[in-house]
Amino acid sequence: MKKRDYDLVVIGSGPGGYVAAIRAAQNGMKVACIEKSQSLGGTCLNVGCIPSKALLQSSEHYFWFKHNSGKHGISCKDLSFDFSTMMQRKDQVVKGLTQGVAALFKRHSIESILGTARVMSSQKIEVELKDGKREIECENIILATGSESIALPFLPYDEKQIVSSTGALCLSSVPKRLLVIGGGVIGVELASVYNRLGSEVTIVEMLDQICIAMDQTLSKNLLQLLKKQGIGFFLGTKVTGGKKENEHYSIQVANGDKQTTINADVVLVAVGRRPYIQGLGLQELGVVLNRGFVTVDNRFMTSIPHLYAIGDLIEGPMLAHRASEEGCVLADLLAGKQAHVNYMAIPNIIYTHPEVAAVGLTEKEARNMGLEIVIGTAAFRGNPRTRSNGDEDGLVKVIGTGPEKKLIGMHILGAQASELIQIGMVAIEKKMSLFELSESPFGHPTLSEAIKEACGQALGRAIHT
Ligand SMILES: Cc1cc2nc3c(=O)[nH]c(=O)nc-3n(C[C@H](O)[C@H](O)[C@H](O)COP(=O)(O)OP(=O)(O)OC[C@H]3O[C@@H](n4cnc5c(N)ncnc54)[C@H](O)[C@@H]3O)c2cc1C
Repeated sequence: MKKRDYDLVVIGSGPGGYVAAIRAAQNGMKVACIEKSQSLGGTCLNVGCIPSKALLQSSEHYFWFKHNSGKHGISCKDLSFDFSTMMQRKDQVVKGLTQGVAALFKRHSIESILGTARVMSSQKIEVELKDGKREIECENIILATGSESIALPFLPYDEKQIVSSTGALCLSSVPKRLLVIGGGVIGVELASVYNRLGSEVTIVEMLDQICIAMDQTLSKNLLQLLKKQGIGFFLGTKVTGGKKENEHYSIQVANGDKQTTINADVVLVAVGRRPYIQGLGLQELGVVLNRGFVTVDNRFMTSIPHLYAIGDLIEGPMLAHRASEEGCVLADLLAGKQAHVNYMAIPNIIYTHPEVAAVGLTEKEARNMGLEIVIGTAAFRGNPRTRSNGDEDGLVKVIGTGPEKKLIGMHILGAQASELIQIGMVAIEKKMSLFELSESPFGHPTLSEAIKEACGQALGRAIHT
């Protein structure tokens, strides 16, 4: 029998694919990773998490100095920014990290194949290379081809004036008027970037709430804070059409019978993402899909043996760290190890200012499940560190259940919520209770003391609240 070329071939080098490849190599497998783009790292490193956070950071520095430096006795009279330097910095960050993935592949003896993969059978792949085709046989295949932005049929992307998140991350100048269609995570993050840099930003959202997956208390608070920062909102409003007029776009929106026209120089369509399976050959193979997502069992196997799928391609929150967790777990399972993903402990983060972060169940989800719950909150206003920092907006909300008051949800709106939520992640992963958290000696003065305080408040033992 012909020896197969690899034990495992991973298609897609995003945070799902590259992490799966590395863990599989660590488990002793001979691994290749096929990537159709010229740069490794997938959406996350190239056109997602990393470039968006780089621009959020630059724009936040500018906004902070503009609005807060005076309170700290710092004069910024001639404050200005150079947009192209911001963009170049962002590109450098991306370049460094994507090259880092290439170095990791080398270190783990993973063959990186730059080309477009098509699955011919459960153990055979054809790769379209720059200069020809290559057939590869392997024991197992992991599909990690991610997702793509959904377009509106009447506003097709030109990535200059009608942009997806990818276009919004590489505009050549700050638009005078930016219309963002969709008040989800990507919409509010990119709206924040351009609002801070001086665009007149409007978000149109079909639902009555922004960031729908978020706890309602936090979502309402975030909405107010973003409005205070200058972002305009049309909630419960649908975009019904749009056309180019001279140099700008004129977009029609409707709230019930009420019709309005919004003029914008750039329109960001951020209405969601869908799994990317184009050209993979899955339909021809008969791989079962559900609403476009690849259906997998609890070991990430598709309807066809030896063919697995992870990350944005399968149902669940489209998050880089979820994809990576699935990649690690699947690589361990393929090596015969015990492993599982604890989806309850996967945090969800929005990198606005203040940030929003959540892990576990929302209050609504817990109540819908019929759980008896206790809730504790602590406003950051009462936290000595936020007072010292001059950054007091937001709160921590914790949810516990059962006689032991196990932590089942933590929701944070506030500065550095993205870091603070990791305490909740570990606590849920380790099945900790509100008692244990409230009795832990958090350092003082720190933002994380608000977590202790919220847990104490839920138990009627808060010191400051
Ligand atoms: C603007 C933006 C900001 C985001 N911010 C965050 C964030 O802050 N935190 C977070 O957790 N998530 C964030 N995300 C989501 C995150 O990027 C995705 O959840 C994550 O990248 C999914 O990883 P993946 O490995 O499943 O797929 P991807 O990262 O999409 O990688 C898939 C790879 O497969 C390749 N590919 C596709 N088809 C083929 C083929 N036939 N042959 C070879 N290669 C192929 C693609 O070129 C791509 O490189 C953000 C997304 C966007 C768009």
